[in-house]
Amino acid sequence: MQYIVMDLEWNTAYAKRYNSFFNEVIEIGAAKLDGSFRLVDTISILVKPQISKKLRGRTKDLTHITNEDVSGGKVFEQAISEFSDWVGDGDNIFLTWGDGDIRVLSKNNEYFTGSSQLVFMKNYADAQKYIQSFIESKDRQQVGLAAACEQLGINPEDFSHHRALDDSLMTVECIKKVFDENKLKKYVHHCDADFNKRLAFKPFYIRDINNPAVKLRGTKCYCDVCGSQAVQNKKWRLVNQSFRSEFFCPKCKRNFRFSVRYKQYFDYVDIKKTYTEIKPKENKPVKKENIKDKKTAVSD
Ligand SMILES: [Zn+2]
Repeated sequence: MQYIVMDLEWNTAYAKRYNSFFNEVIEIGAAKLDGSFRLVDTISILVKPQISKKLRGRTKDLTHITNEDVSGGKVFEQAISEFSDWVGDGDNIFLTWGDGDIRVLSKNNEYFTGSSQLVFMKNYADAQKYIQSFIESKDRQQVGLAAACEQLGINPEDFSHHRALDDSLMTVECIKKVFDENKLKKYVHHCDADFNKRLAFKPFYIRDINNPAVKLRGTKCYCDVCGSQAVQNKKWRLVNQSFRSEFFCPKCKRNFRFSVRYKQYFDYVDIKKTYTEIKPKENKPVKKENIKDKKTAVSD
């Protein structure tokens, strides 16, 4: 069994084929480790973009990769074949910081080779989820790689940021600090057909009030201050990603806005409820100022 810790850099390009923006891989970096998590080998491959030949300013700023660098790179088909050879046929566990890189690699593979399946990846674990189980984070927020390094006593400045191999090695150092084969097992997924389906699934906000997951009609809303049942006084309407309505709490004698946001994931719907205070006469101070200004103008 070996571990492959991987990181990618990509450039956002407009893909005519999909009629949408697409994250085109421009660099693959990875470290190979043995069963005891000792470094065996590393790889770094620059990928020559084919969808958009010019890198966006943001990509260049973030990665310090130049158009010249990537123009000397290998096209994706070659790069992924070289990478696959380097990974080898044996059993492995891939680790990436968050599952974004795996999704992007799978999408690129689909775009350029016709298959979204990464056959060289046998098992996968999200390093971010694993490491997060060892460190403290506010409000269960996702921790960034540099922040995780600092919490684990690694100096992120020792690595050049946002280059694929360095980010991989930074992830390796983080995992090393908390490496425990048995604990890690809980985070490992076998890369079967179901895993690939999950990977291909793109979470989205439910905006259709008739979607069965949306159960707003007849929904009871309780005041976030006193817990009493509030009375709805406006119809539900869609505002950005949320359904919004206004309620009145008879006990507190206050109006408040209640928003419900539904996000569809592969096998569950995430529901987020938000209460917002409606401040009465909130534009009065502005009016007062206007009057003052006028008065000053008159007296002048
Ligand atoms: Zn109340």
